[in-house]
Amino acid sequence: MYLERLKLTDRVALVTGGASGIGLAVAEALAEAGARVTIADRDPGAIAAARDTLAGKGHAVEGVELDVTRSADVARAADELMARSGRIDILVNNAGIARSDTRAEEVADEHWLNVLDVNLNGSFWCARAFGRHMLAQGSGSIVNVGSMSGFIVNRPQPQSYYNASKAAVHQLTKSLAAEWADRGVRVNAVAPTYIATPLNAFAEAELLERWLDGTPQRRLGEPHEVASVVHFLASDAASLMTGSIVAVDGGYSCW
Ligand code: NDP
Repeated sequence: MYLERLKLTDRVALVTGGASGIGLAVAEALAEAGARVTIADRDPGAIAAARDTLAGKGHAVEGVELDVTRSADVARAADELMARSGRIDILVNNAGIARSDTRAEEVADEHWLNVLDVNLNGSFWCARAFGRHMLAQGSGSIVNVGSMSGFIVNRPQPQSYYNASKAAVHQLTKSLAAEWADRGVRVNAVAPTYIATPLNAFAEAELLERWLDGTPQRRLGEPHEVASVVHFLASDAASLMTGSIVAVDGGYSCW
């Protein structure tokens, strides 16, 4: 019974930023659980490569070119997925960017706006567009990818823009969850620790060492370790969960 509830057989799922890192691992986990997965990302070459990678593992997934900061394109992508699939069950708001560490007094307008635009605005445009279809069908599960940085300020890393964007994603998660709970749509988030992906390729060895010092498990995370929690939250096994921000952090938030 419990394992049945983890299955996503024929569920229609879309993963933003699904061509790389955590998003690609999420796409794989959802496909393995039986979902019909679409990867949405902004680079067609990266989408094709990701689809090839997953095909090599026995998973046929769809791909769609989408910049989540463009709300009209996001609405169109939601309508097209609905027209193609007849329903939308799962949205994983994973697309996100970081920028190299910059002290607050040096942050340029464009730098601040870009990060907020992708991490926060993009998450909202997608939740609104895909959520409308979920509300109409009376069911759906949205999982946002927040961050440990939405809870704590990681000393000595100056990342006001990133931290603020992820804290906002956490609060967006709770707000949408509260609004949509009685209409069959659950909204949760994961808050991962440092995961080695292209997103934070700029991180320096000293920073990583400090991060490890602050992590009881004394290690960084792997994309699949976040993906398995996203899968759980997306599934019926998490039916009583909405508005939860689940730390996936090797104990980082304990200290
Ligand atoms: P990656 O850079 O590996 O993957 C992010 C993907 O999102 C990329 O394919 C990227 O494309 C895509 N993307 C960026 N902007 C847009 C956009 N406007 N529209 C559509 N797609 C876009 O990063 P991660 O896998 O590490 O990050 C995934 C999520 O996890 C992010 O939200 C991140 O903030 C979060 N996170 C990551 C942590 C980590 O340590 N890695 C820790 C905590 C949270 P492109 O390559 O073209 O930019």
